[in-house]
Amino acid sequence: MSKLEAFLAGERHDDVALFLTESYLDSQHKLPKMGETVENGYVLVVPGDDGRRAFSAGTGMDAMEFARGAMERRGHISRSLDGGECPAREDGDAGDEADADGADAHEVEFIFAFSEAQNEEVGGLYERGDVVHAYAHCACGASYSDKWVVGAEGETGVQPGESEPAEAE
Ligand SMILES: [Zn+2]
Repeated sequence: MSKLEAFLAGERHDDVALFLTESYLDSQHKLPKMGETVENGYVLVVPGDDGRRAFSAGTGMDAMEFARGAMERRGHISRSLDGGECPAREDGDAGDEADADGADAHEVEFIFAFSEAQNEEVGGLYERGDVVHAYAHCACGASYSDKWVVGAEGETGVQPGESEPAEAE
């Protein structure tokens, strides 16, 4: 099992996962390519402190501050942490420009994620199992977040094409 698979299975609560697209990494020249190569970029799964340092080195942002900002908006983030659906796409705020620039105007640039152990006392999602929290930054400048229960990825969090988490109903 790769580190990423273990992280996604809720077996690495002390680690954080970072996903960065190849084009974003190339534009930054700040992060060594030390992660696992996935289809659209790189994923690093590293201990929390190292991960937060790598995140700020790679993006120029504080990881927890970024996460707090991204929490205000929900949007689907792929369960393999390598893409997402920017909620700003539907606002049309970059609409005409996006069309002119091509389909990449709302491409995810990077994702920061951590997981939390099941906690029956907290209730809700946390009662159901380990929870993965994911925060994405879009090329348009918008940030958004998603979270889901390990083992119930298709029943919790924002599903593809949706804008509200499935468990909200
Ligand atoms: Zn966007």
